[in-house]
Amino acid sequence: MAAISLPARRADIVAEVDVCVAGAGPAGLGAALAAARQGATVCLLERHGFMGGNFTAASVGTVCGLYVKEDSGFEYVVRGIAEEMVEALTSNGQAMGPVPFQESAVLLYLPWAAKRLFDHAVSSEERITLFLHALVSEVIVEGDRIEAVVVASKRGPVAVRAASFVDATGDADLVAFSGGEWVMGEAGRRQHASMQFVLQHAAGDVAMARGIPALSGLIAERGGSLTRDGGALIPTFRPGEFIGAMTRVTNPDGSPLDITDLTQATWGELRGRELAEEAARFVIDNVPGFEGAFLADTAPNLGIRESRRVVGKYVLTGDDVRGAARFDDSIGAGAWPLEYHVVGRSTQYVHLPPGEYYQVPFRSIVPEGPVNLLVAGRCLSADPDALASIRVMAPSMAIGQAAGTWAAMSTRDPGVTPADLQQSLRDQGAFLG
Ligand SMILES: Cc1cc2nc3c(=O)[nH]c(=O)nc-3n(C[C@H](O)[C@H](O)[C@H](O)COP(=O)(O)OP(=O)(O)OC[C@H]3O[C@@H](n4cnc5c(N)ncnc54)[C@H](O)[C@@H]3O)c2cc1C
Repeated sequence: MAAISLPARRADIVAEVDVCVAGAGPAGLGAALAAARQGATVCLLERHGFMGGNFTAASVGTVCGLYVKEDSGFEYVVRGIAEEMVEALTSNGQAMGPVPFQESAVLLYLPWAAKRLFDHAVSSEERITLFLHALVSEVIVEGDRIEAVVVASKRGPVAVRAASFVDATGDADLVAFSGGEWVMGEAGRRQHASMQFVLQHAAGDVAMARGIPALSGLIAERGGSLTRDGGALIPTFRPGEFIGAMTRVTNPDGSPLDITDLTQATWGELRGRELAEEAARFVIDNVPGFEGAFLADTAPNLGIRESRRVVGKYVLTGDDVRGAARFDDSIGAGAWPLEYHVVGRSTQYVHLPPGEYYQVPFRSIVPEGPVNLLVAGRCLSADPDALASIRVMAPSMAIGQAAGTWAAMSTRDPGVTPADLQQSLRDQGAFLG
């Protein structure tokens, strides 16, 4: 490919802080809130005009990974900031759970409400400087440390300097930009993308009683042209409104999209809206209760389940997940099944034994790269099987909380140990297993 050289430029430093968090999805929110509550000054950078990542931008509609099934019912397996956020939504009537799903359970929530919750949570922390419309586009590395990140703004490049950085971009942008190690799963192993959509004006009672229970059968009978044979219609908390999770968005040859490639990203967005429109038409034409519904909108963004995965000090494996592994340096727990959106039209689930959960080691968020950089969320160091479980939103937020806590503590005291981190997380109400 032809290339041109970029002229050297200067970038105004718009913030100088203890901890810089790139990406305000579930992981970045957990990291920024935790770091600020540890007394650190924080700069949170988000490329969109709102926070939440897939929580809001992809309108996913359910929080997974919060619960483990006990004899007595479902118990939280992720606590701390994730529990605080979902309890806030629930107490406002904007979320409901646990709702049993296969052998596990989810929390249903309203994406719009989550946007406002995150606005409020971040604004309430005076130590957090939030920049929206702030795409991290470069990293300045000095020796073995990141000195600053460069943010693409409408006024050109600006910089944020910090002592520690958390890469919560979902795509490991900071790790990639700083020359750290990462991998991208090959076709057949990498999770596909989806475009969620919103249907309004359904007859809610009929839809719940007759439409949704019949959905899979109707797709099997008449939905041969749809890209997913499973999927779901998820009720929000507004009369007659449902989120459609019924698309699988691939490249034209069926391979998984690489969202870091502009051509594939553009194709994915356009194709996603096309598939959402087709799926919505199918629902309106075939599913009881949706006869009078209309397609209100698609999600703001194509939902990306997987892109770059960091290679860290430890690679969490599918065997760890299935075997309910224990680690001395645990920073959180996961119990969501391995959920694969990788081959054909179906979604495959591999459940953990009832009541079991695995731990996540601190080493899986420490990349082979700059020493003052941690990762959090779906780009952590995990193989494709482990990622199929750990990538969901509750553990992403918990891992973010651990990363932000470590970033704050290590800035204050370079001699901090994983045991100190664990103590702090327990003091914060996190569950480490
Ligand atoms: C269609 C779909 C359905 C899903 N369904 C569920 C579900 O029902 N329940 C569930 O719990 N999980 C679900 N997931 C998985 C879950 O949403 C994600 O794995 C989770 O959001 C990961 O959190 P994260 O913070 O690591 O990444 P993300 O949610 O992707 O957040 C990353 C954030 O970083 C920002 N960002 C990225 N690059 C930059 C940059 N260079 N500079 C600045 N900002 C940047 C992004 O805008 C985004 O806000 C689903 C995922 C998809 C795609």
